Amino acid sequence: MHTDLVAALDIGGTKIAGALVDGHGRILLRAQRATPAQEDGETVMGAVEAVVGELTASPLWSRAQAVGIGSAGPVDASAGTVSPVNVPGWRGYPLVERVRAATGGLPVELIGDGVAITAAEHWQGAARGHDNALCMVVSTGVGGGLVLGGRLYPGPTGNAGHIGHISVDLDGDLCPCGARGCVERIASGPNIARRALEGGWQPGPDGDTSAAAVAAAAREGDPVAVASFERAARALAAGIAATATLVEIDIAVIGGGVGKAGDVLFTPLRKALPDYATLSFVQGLTVEPAQMGTDAGLVGAAAAALRGREDAPAAGLAS
Ligand SMILES: [Zn+2]
Repeated sequence: MHTDLVAALDIGGTKIAGALVDGHGRILLRAQRATPAQEDGETVMGAVEAVVGELTASPLWSRAQAVGIGSAGPVDASAGTVSPVNVPGWRGYPLVERVRAATGGLPVELIGDGVAITAAEHWQGAARGHDNALCMVVSTGVGGGLVLGGRLYPGPTGNAGHIGHISVDLDGDLCPCGARGCVERIASGPNIARRALEGGWQPGPDGDTSAAAVAAAAREGDPVAVASFERAARALAAGIAATATLVEIDIAVIGGGVGKAGDVLFTPLRKALPDYATLSFVQGLTVEPAQMGTDAGLVGAAAAALRGREDAPAAGLAS
């Protein structure tokens, strides 16, 4: 019997996705439910169990060796718990224990969603072949993760690389996290849109005030829209440069909805980077768009499960 698959769960505030994934990152089976994010914790867990139930019902399930979970954060991998900001019913919720029970006792690896995306980009995407990388998701929020010395570096609790909440503006606007001038407070999609509107940018006839609409206006040359993306690009450049100076990454990969803005973001970002990444050992730093699509969370969770198997004591691999 082949025991070459892992189960992956990607848990966010909007949807809960599950998959069976092979050792090459191919998805063989999928399941998905909407996240009942405003319900109580047991109801949310019921949706997770429904996804897991679809996977365990498959004839392929007998080949599954481990489970990887990428969850909206904060997570606490050491405790096996999650407290996603957008799922108030889960605070210190024992997700690892519950998923282990639902999967018949398989080993479970938990990481934050930013770390999961990083695992996916390092395994199959834009950070492939880079031993030291920062991968970021820039969308409604700003998250990220690190690859150091050729390996995913989730940190003790699974949240390392959370670049969205490092400050790049000491006296800047108050961030919901409690600090000031966080990267997320300047560079997230909603903040790009907010700043454009405050500067007098007018949405088109469809009334779309999303960051994607601001990006479209910037491409048409609207100066306020361009300026809002340039401000976001500088915040990202400062955060990326700080990370590179600390731990010597040589590439930063940017995905998420804002990452899809293309040249409107990447041109000012690449221009601003040398203003902050000044020391000799970070001058080769490059910034690239993410390559993994919407399956990045699942593929990254699968990578974490496979990594967990590699790290397991030899006895744990005998099967
Ligand atoms: Zn913050």
